[in-house]
Amino acid sequence: MDRLINAFTRRGFVAGAAAAASMGLYAAGLGGHGMAKAAPALATDYALLDVVPSSADETLDADVVVVGCAGAGLNAASASATAGAKTIAIDRAPNIAATNACNTAGIWAIESSEELKYDSHITQQWAFDFIWSGTHYQSNAGALRNLLRASGPGMDLIIDAGTPLMYPFADDADPEQIGILNWGGHVYMVSGPERAEFLQGMIDESGAESLWGCEVTNLLADNGVVVGVRMVDSDGKTVDVKASNTIVCTGGFIQNLDLVAKYYGGARMYGAGSPYNDGAGIQLCQAAGAQMGKNFSTSINELGAANAKSSDFIVGNVAETPLFCLPLFGGLFLNGQGIRFMDESKMAVSTMYCGEPLLRESTYYVILDQALVDTYSTNKITGFMSQSAIDNMAPVVQMSFAGVTLTSMPDKLAQGIEEGWVWKGETLEDLAEACGLTKLPDSVAAYNDGAGAGEDNDFFKPVEFLKPIEQGPFYAVQLDVAAWLTLGGIKCDEDCRALDAENRPIPGLFVAGADADLWAVPYFEGGSAQGFCVASGYLAGLTAAGGDIKQV
Ligand SMILES: Cc1cc2nc3c(=O)[nH]c(=O)nc-3n(C[C@H](O)[C@H](O)[C@H](O)COP(=O)(O)OP(=O)(O)OC[C@H]3O[C@@H](n4cnc5c(N)ncnc54)[C@H](O)[C@@H]3O)c2cc1C
Repeated sequence: MDRLINAFTRRGFVAGAAAAASMGLYAAGLGGHGMAKAAPALATDYALLDVVPSSADETLDADVVVVGCAGAGLNAASASATAGAKTIAIDRAPNIAATNACNTAGIWAIESSEELKYDSHITQQWAFDFIWSGTHYQSNAGALRNLLRASGPGMDLIIDAGTPLMYPFADDADPEQIGILNWGGHVYMVSGPERAEFLQGMIDESGAESLWGCEVTNLLADNGVVVGVRMVDSDGKTVDVKASNTIVCTGGFIQNLDLVAKYYGGARMYGAGSPYNDGAGIQLCQAAGAQMGKNFSTSINELGAANAKSSDFIVGNVAETPLFCLPLFGGLFLNGQGIRFMDESKMAVSTMYCGEPLLRESTYYVILDQALVDTYSTNKITGFMSQSAIDNMAPVVQMSFAGVTLTSMPDKLAQGIEEGWVWKGETLEDLAEACGLTKLPDSVAAYNDGAGAGEDNDFFKPVEFLKPIEQGPFYAVQLDVAAWLTLGGIKCDEDCRALDAENRPIPGLFVAGADADLWAVPYFEGGSAQGFCVASGYLAGLTAAGGDIKQV
């Protein structure tokens, strides 16, 4: 396994990302997906409703109802309907093009029909060993085992729908050469409405009914059994959908600051994707007695940063939000006390996996001197970052940085000062007083000593990233964590049934995707966020329809 990690190259996946970028995906840069920045008003009460018979304006009947019809839900609905169950999928978004499912780069999946064309494809056993040991045995082993069984068939639903994809493993089917990211890589060639056509076609073809612009507000219960959902439809009517099984997959809670603070040790974290990932599903399941798992992580770093005081708010087009890309350059970071807390180069060279130290601090500060501002604002990013750092960056970051010079940085610093999240000082002492980081001068002095000596005895940062901070004026840029999604959610059994406080499955209730506690700590495999959504959706959909993943 180590040999594959060591042999990890992004060549194929990068090629795929490049192809995808050339098709318009991520054309606006990191996180530039045209999605709403602010979450709409939350439904305030997700209480379990004991409503039999129904008091709603209208009642629909199904075998399986799916709440959320994107990353996990579209597979749940398609798998359930294909297995013969009458299936209704409900989503708050106006259409599938407006969901995360149409804005991702790729899916990590194993044993899809495309991979099985190659004798040296990754096996379920290999992937199980890799992930279970890689998460230090914290992932849900039973669910993981079944997710790997569901991964190929789940991916095949998308492939068979004719969705334009490219496969990094097709270029070079030698696992020692291409590494695990490329081996599982199924990279989308179209995004937004173009992709939506295929994914909506996949749902329709399966026979599932999808209802868009409808918000599920409650689970329905009858004597402790979940028997469907109540929703408000696009005309404002209350509709009860009665079903033997309900699958909740609303995408976690990145857009819910309160839930993020609750489960991430008080941290602040902002999401760049669907505004509807606001914890609705978590709260619906909790109201039915389901328990949260204990592990939480996130896919964070490649996205850069955010600050709610900024009119830009979150990283968007790289050239227009240069300050939110600063953490990816590996300069000097200080925490709220003005103390250094990590080898910052990890943010540059391990871009997909090194966000956790920032999440631990929640709010942090990047310290710049005028020399760095000049370097950053007058050179192409690929010119001032070392080639080794560029080579190791996540494909999406590479794509976004290619050919860009951050000429707007001086203006954005001035804007940040006006908005109250950037501070400037002629001396380090002035800067410390302005931003309130009392230990800043001592921390910078120690950092400069290390840079002068060519070694960092505090965090062992490689010398190529040790640039002294010595030429005034100086700047402190306050940043918060930005991330794609929360990882960690409702505890479930090996088939994605939600569990109660006694670890007993709640009859009629399944969870999938980012709402479920499938695997979380640490996030370590690119593409697996959506990959596990595809697999868990398939697993939950098939099981809820009466199927058995071991028979597939
Ligand atoms: C821009 C972006 C790019 C990404 N790129 C990648 C990538 O390349 N590879 C990767 O592995 N992962 C990627 N991710 C992460 C990936 O998108 C998620 O892991 C995946 O979409 C999660 O699937 P899900 O079904 O859990 O949630 P979602 O896909 O968000 O689906 C949840 C759905 O539930 C709906 N919903 C919420 N509340 C309700 C309610 N009360 N009633 C009805 N419907 C509701 C929402 O509208 C939403 O459509 C990316 C994320 C973003 C935001």
